[in-house]
Amino acid sequence: MELRCEGCAGCCVDWRPLAPDAAGTDRTGSRPPIDDAYDLVPLTRDEIARFLDDGLGDVLVPRLFEPADGDDTVRIDAVEVAAAGDRPIFAVGLRKPPKPVAPIGTDEHRWLDACVFLDPTTLQCRIHDDDLYPQTCSTYPAHSLELGAETECERVEAADGGDRLLDDAVPDDTPPLPFGPRAAGATVFAYPDPDDLDGVIDRLRGARLTAEDRARFVGAAVGSSPGSLSVAPDRMAEARDRARDADSWAGRAIRAWNERAAGDGDRVALDPEDRVRLVRELEDDAGAPGTPGWE
Ligand code: SF4
Ligand code: SF4
Repeated sequence: MELRCEGCAGCCVDWRPLAPDAAGTDRTGSRPPIDDAYDLVPLTRDEIARFLDDGLGDVLVPRLFEPADGDDTVRIDAVEVAAAGDRPIFAVGLRKPPKPVAPIGTDEHRWLDACVFLDPTTLQCRIHDDDLYPQTCSTYPAHSLELGAETECERVEAADGGDRLLDDAVPDDTPPLPFGPRAAGATVFAYPDPDDLDGVIDRLRGARLTAEDRARFVGAAVGSSPGSLSVAPDRMAEARDRARDADSWAGRAIRAWNERAAGDGDRVALDPEDRVRLVRELEDDAGAPGTPGWE
């Protein structure tokens, strides 16, 4: 694969407000997500545990799914969700607060949901050279190409965002699909007690999950073991507590961006110097790893 990512960030930003016809949707496939986050990055159990170990449990968010034909289901808040037996299945990804960004080759900054680790100024990933860099991101868009699905890079091209996917050969060392046959306990988990989840579907749909809600799922994911949907109660409880108590620069930045953002897709009413200063104040000066820029 050869990609031209400078000025793009199409796979890190919800750019649907910029080009609704060209942008794709996560609501395709046999199990559409219950939430409306765009391009959620599914993390492996070990990646989730690493974020937790680094004090970043507050950047993680669960995703539940509508059932496919023939799936087991569980009813939560009067909504049927996909399940394994009586346990709802879920994945865990990275939170996307609104940030002032100009992605997909545009030059006007707007408030768009963007990955917690995207530097809004350079449009580069703050954990690109880190052990935390998710496999989904490091291999993107190999899985889409493997499945013959449209890639975000091609969607950006269709939105006049410039040439992005320069070579579409799938690398030989591409890892297994995150939702394929080896996903149980690796990227797909089962929550052991659905009675804990009253109100969660309403809050998930309204992007109003609490720290306690998010921590429950992080705990269950870390309490899981690859190849199985069972959960070790002690490991789950310990991970849940650590996720709930996390107070990282990134979690604080998410709160600050949510407080400052205007409406989804609105123009950013700051001059460029003030916008850059705000990013520095809320992210870089608060402890975010820097990015080098494209020069
Ligand atoms: S959408 Fe494609 S070209 Fe754009 S940043 Fe992501 S990988 Fe790079
Ligand atoms: S972790 Fe980095 S590459 Fe992955 S979505 Fe977030 S900003 Fe983009």
